[in-house]
Amino acid sequence: MTEFRKRGLIGLFRHIGQKVKGLAAAICVIGILGAISTGVSLYLTGVLELIPCIAIGLGGVVTSWLSAWVLYCIGDTHVKVERLESKLIPKPAYAEYLAGNAPERGACEICGRTTDLIPAKIEDQMGVRYRKVCRECFAANNATEAN
Ligand SMILES: [Zn+2]
Repeated sequence: MTEFRKRGLIGLFRHIGQKVKGLAAAICVIGILGAISTGVSLYLTGVLELIPCIAIGLGGVVTSWLSAWVLYCIGDTHVKVERLESKLIPKPAYAEYLAGNAPERGACEICGRTTDLIPAKIEDQMGVRYRKVCRECFAANNATEAN
């Protein structure tokens, strides 16, 4: 209950692909059992002959199975897109990416490491230089932010 309060109503819709896949499987099983029991009960109560009852049962089974494919495919696609999204966008930068002000990424011009870059103004005995550097090199060179 506390977990529900913490995540709120939106939490019910997180990782929706996995839930849609489960729903597809549930609908498939319920549909198949429903079609078979409908066919059997129509035959046992004598409403229809044997052949139409078998046709209703088999038709229901095939229809449930095929329509579950469509729903499962939608859920599975969402799961894979979500996985790709989390791989392509590094987690700490994700909120900034969503807000549209992601920091520039690339190779640090001092150490070469690929990371978020800071435009830096470096002043030392060699003079003044402007470089795009990583956070560590920014601190190590006593740089000030250049814009
Ligand atoms: Zn660096």
